[in-house]
Order: sequence, then C-alpha cells, then structure tokens
Amino acid sequence: MEDEEGPECGKADFVLLDEVTMEHFMENLKLRFEKGRIYTYIGEVLVSVNPYQDLPLYGPVAIARYQGRELYERPPHLYAVANAAYRAMKRRARDTCIVISGESGAGKTEASKHIMQYIAAVTNPSQRAEVERVKDVLLKSTCVLEAFGNARTNRNHNSSRFGKYMDINFDFKGDPIGGHIHSYLLEKSRVLKQHVGERNFHAFYQVLRGCEAAELQELHLQRNPALYSFTRQGAGLADSESEERSHYRAVMEAMQVIGFSAEEMASVRRILAAILHLGNIEFVETEEGQLAVAEEVLADHVAELTATPREQVLRCLLARTVASGGREVIEKGHTAAEASYARDACAKALYQRLFQWVVNRINSVMAPRGRDARRDGKDTVIGVLDIYGFEVFPVNSFEQFCINYCNEKLQQLFIQLILKQEQEEYEREGIAWQSVDFFNNATIVDLVERPHRGILAVLDEACCSAGTITDRIFLQSLDTHHRHHPHYTSRQLCPTDKTMEFGRDFRIKHYAGDVTYSVLGFIDKNRDALFQDFKRLLYNSSDPALRAMWPEGQQDVTEVTKRPLTAGSLFKSSMVALVDNLASKEPFYVRCLKPNQDKAAARLDEAHCRHQVAYLGLLENVRVRRAGFASRQPYPRFLLRYKMTCEYTWPNHLLGSDREAVGALLEQHGLQGDVAFGRSKLFIRSPRTLVALEQSRARLV
Ligand code: ADP
Ligand code: MG
Repeated sequence: MEDEEGPECGKADFVLLDEVTMEHFMENLKLRFEKGRIYTYIGEVLVSVNPYQDLPLYGPVAIARYQGRELYERPPHLYAVANAAYRAMKRRARDTCIVISGESGAGKTEASKHIMQYIAAVTNPSQRAEVERVKDVLLKSTCVLEAFGNARTNRNHNSSRFGKYMDINFDFKGDPIGGHIHSYLLEKSRVLKQHVGERNFHAFYQVLRGCEAAELQELHLQRNPALYSFTRQGAGLADSESEERSHYRAVMEAMQVIGFSAEEMASVRRILAAILHLGNIEFVETEEGQLAVAEEVLADHVAELTATPREQVLRCLLARTVASGGREVIEKGHTAAEASYARDACAKALYQRLFQWVVNRINSVMAPRGRDARRDGKDTVIGVLDIYGFEVFPVNSFEQFCINYCNEKLQQLFIQLILKQEQEEYEREGIAWQSVDFFNNATIVDLVERPHRGILAVLDEACCSAGTITDRIFLQSLDTHHRHHPHYTSRQLCPTDKTMEFGRDFRIKHYAGDVTYSVLGFIDKNRDALFQDFKRLLYNSSDPALRAMWPEGQQDVTEVTKRPLTAGSLFKSSMVALVDNLASKEPFYVRCLKPNQDKAAARLDEAHCRHQVAYLGLLENVRVRRAGFASRQPYPRFLLRYKMTCEYTWPNHLLGSDREAVGALLEQHGLQGDVAFGRSKLFIRSPRTLVALEQSRARLV
C-alpha cells in the first residue's frame, strides 16, 4: 500500500470535488473503486464500497501505518477512523462511537471486524494478561454471534440477522478492560421459514455437519439438513460439508476461549436439536376426534433434549391451561391450527432465548472487573454499531417495518449530529457559511413512533383489544389516523394505485425510498404470544442453562395477569435508548455502499450506487462540509500540535492571544488564505492545508 495517492486515484475526500453534483460524485467514486481505493472521506465521514474481493489493505503492516496518525496523513481507511475514535477517546477522555450504516451486503459487519482488529492490535503494549483475555473474548465473540445470529440470504451469504451495538471499555491507559454487547431484534421468524434460496441460522447446519457421529446420535439427529423442516428449504445452497465442519470447530473453540463450559455447550447443542425435532412435529386427529402428535417419538426427543417430562411436553403441544376467573384453572384443547401455531411460537422463542443467553454469557465474561476505574471517571468507552440497513423486499412485513424504522432513527441522528451540528457550529463561531437544504426525516420518525397515533401505538391498541381485531381492521385504523400524512398511503386512500393490494398494504415514503408493507401478521408478530405453559415447562427443565433462559416461567398460572410488552414497543424503547446513547458520544461515521446486486468483484453498478448515495444523503453531507471546512480545531489544541513549526510560537508564543499566534504561524507557512478564524476555533477549509502542516511537523519530530 502506498502512503500517498496520486491524482490518478481521484479525490481522497469528496469535499475536494470541483463541483458537488451526483455526476462528479459518481465519477470520483468509480475512478477510485477501479484503482482499488474503496475508501473515501467526506470530512471525517468514511464512505466505503464493498470490493467483494480480498484487497491487500489490512493486517499488521497497514495497521502500523495508521497508528497514531492524523486522519489526513494517510489514504482514507477504516483504520484511520478507528484510530481517530481511539485517539479522541484517549486524549480527551471522551466516549466515542462508530456508527456503521448501509444496506445488507454493503460491508458493515466486515468493517466492524476491521475496526475491532485495529483496536486489538494497537492496545496493551505491556501485554497485561487480563487485557489480553478481554481482547480475546472481544474478537472471539464475533465468531460465536455470527454462528447464532447470521444466515445465508440472497443478498449476503453471511448476513447478520440481528442488530449489534458493542461497547468496549478502556482504562486510563487506553487498554480494553471489558465490553458489552446489545443485540437488537433477532429475525426469529427465520427459524421457521426461509425464502427460496436462503437458509436458517448457520448454527443449525454447523451442528448437523460438525458434530461427531456419537454426539449426533445422542441428539437423535442425522447429518442431512434436508430431513428437517426448518433446514430443508435452502438445502440446495448449503456450504460444502467440510467448510461447515470447520466453521463448527471454530465456533466451538471460540466458545471455549470465551469461557462456556463443556456442559453449557452440550446444552446449546441439545436446544438446537430440540428445535429441529420440534419443527418436524405434525398434528393429526384420532378417530375419536382428539388431537394427537403424529410421531410421538419426536415429542420424546424434545422432552429428552430439553430435560422435561414427556407427558408435559405432549400436554403443552396439545392444550393450554387458562385461568378462568379467580383461582380456577382449566385445560383447553388446541385445534390443529392452534397446536401448529403454539409449536412454531415455541421453536422461535427457544431460539431467541438461546441467542440472548449466548449474548448474556459473553457479556458476563466481558464485564469490566474492578469498577474503581469508572468511579474516578477515567474509564471510557468506544461503541461500535453494526445494525441492519434499510430493507425492501417484494413483500415486506413487520420485521422490515422495524428495521426501516431503525434506519429512520439513525438517519435522524446523523442529520442532527453531522448536518445540523455543523451548521450550528458555524453560527456559534460567527463564521460565514451558506445554509444547505437537506431532507429532514423527523416527520417519518414521528409517523411511526408518536404516542397515541403513531403506527406503533395504533398497532399496540389493536393488539390489546380482545382477539377480534384483525390485521385488516388495524389497517383501517391506520388509514383513519394518517390519511393526511404526506409520507403515508394505502390502496384505500389511493384506489388507483394498483401496486398496493386493497385491505392488505400500506406504504411509507421512507427517506430511502417507498416501501409497501403487508399488514398480514402484524398483530400476531407484535403480540408475540407464547403460551405460558411452554414457559413453565422450560423453566422446570432440569438443564440449568435452559432453565436460566426462562426466568418468568416460575409465575403461577393465576398470577399471569399483566400483559407482556409488545414486540413493537420493546423495539421502540430499545431504539430510543440506543439513539440517546449514541448521541451522548462523539460520533464517527462509516457509510457503506454495495457496488452491485450480484456480489460480483470489482464491478460498480452505477444506478445501484447512485440510489444509495442519494438516500444516505451523501451529497448534502459534502455540501454542508464544504460550506464548509474540512477541519476545525480549538486554538490551543492547534498550537500544541504545530507550534514547533514556527519561530514565533516555539517553544511559547509572546503574542496577545492564541488566535493571533495561530495567525502568525499560518502566515509563515503561507496558508492563511485557506482558513477562517472562529471565536474559539480555527476552521481549515481544505485537507491539503492540514497535510502541509503535518509534513512540516514531521520534518521536525
Ligand atoms: P453487511 O454486514 O453490510 O450486510 P458484510 O460485512 O457481511 O455486509 O459483507 C458481505 C460480504 O462482502 C462479506 O461476506 C465479504 O465477502 C464481502 N466484503 C465486505 N467487506 C469487504 C472488504 N472490505 N473486503 C473484501 N470483501 C468484503
Ligand atoms: Mg452484517
């Protein structure tokens, strides 16, 4: 890798474009991409294009080039951003965060891994054992989370099906001493169903392919994923068996390093197996008109694997207990449809709880020890957010609705932090600038989350009413509330639009584009009901790991009166908390672009990229930035770094103020034309100026 980029590589910062138009933007993006330059700045925001091939950009040598450097000293890179976040955290004891966004397959997760690798590589020079342990867990956790939370989709062979925010805690020396992972909205419907050509979560295939024959027998499983309803659908697309086996081994090893006991790992395998067996259970009616499990041996397997009594497993599958007023409890038999529903709900819940338990276990071994550091205020945090990007499918359901709402929230934060903050700073500092119009998506966020009338509130209301409300009635209610909202429509409100189905679809004009949602299943997914019987069953398991996953199972049937929170309201509060958390930190942004839909190496499909550039608001970002200064630094900080490059300021200046001293310094370098003097900060227009300053500094140190 070269340290300097020649002009043939285009502009390393979009701020330097001759003109800020889509054409110029795309031209530069394309030119750089063709030269293997997948990273470009917009000020401090990093734009990244997925190369879909291994480029020689990473590893220890590259890391060393970026370590301790300023952002502009080297060609744009993730390492530079990681380094900037790390240095801001260390120097100024500020919590920072790196927000990675982009659509599925754009390279977010890979980016987050490079960032973690960078941080692991540059910390703990004194090799303290505890810090090494924490770093090991941090790095290994990715592998485990990917096994349980990722799946092969049509967009990405290793697609994260959950959102992840990871905090890394640092001590006053700047070494990692702990971490914490928050996971968001695992796509648990995938346990039951996968689109054509897609697969279930990796973990299922890994167990089937990777277990020893004897282990497999204990789990009552056979190797072939085509034998199980839950893993059948994408069978044609399976990774090679040997690949799957080596993944399995890597995951097991990682779990061991993290500190999962052999017994816990066996529990995990048993739960995965139980879910697979559960998926094959079907219901039949006996001659007496009773509902029965078609193959009872499957229920036996489930009972054995979950360490619960066989009779109770059967009862949970075929009936439910209900409190009928007071303390009286009756058992109510399921219809075949109810039984299938209950089975599916149980399979999904088992998997979700397993996933959450894995996350919690990892968190427990990463929890910073000796919290004294926190107390004296020296413990700081870098957060890394890798969360699902905007999604549009041919049919979009509750999951896409949540995911896209999440992206609206993050876009809103981006607007607030980058665009608004920037303009406000110019005002505050008394710097002349040109106001830039950008689309503010606040009204879309409001459409979704506003109390009482927002889509989530209307949905909750529908879920609270006793059983009779259908998805269709929910849609009517949405129409009533939002008929005049500029970002909402439906077939009812727009009868001529045949791209929506009457009584089924509504459409939101998202900042990233229009998405049509089918309301079918909204109420059900939001209610996310699981019969209490299953919770009690699993809580009473004699497997301690499984038991720990179902703490609420200890409630008595007559106690359970409080309605559990809906999936939508839980998601909303987790998003609000996430955004508050990010807003409290100094943000760094990585905006990932997907070059084409075919995962093809070295091909940049222009129309596809243009769309992403547009909705990510990258042009507005460049305009604001240009309006606009590449860098700003408080005068004292600027002097601290560059005073040795000027005879008037070294070792200390005798001028009236820091501002005057900075003026003298710049004049000596002939750089005074490229800056503006704010009240407390120096504003530098072009990155070149910074580079020039860095170079003269480098000649002296
Ligand atoms: P996302 O998390 O945004 O959905 P991923 O990070 O999983 O996307 O990337 C999808 C795939 O693209 C990866 O599995 C990898 O094959 C490829 N990829 C992403 N980033 C890079 C990179 N920097 N270099 C090489 N390949 C990459
Ligand atoms: Mg991902």
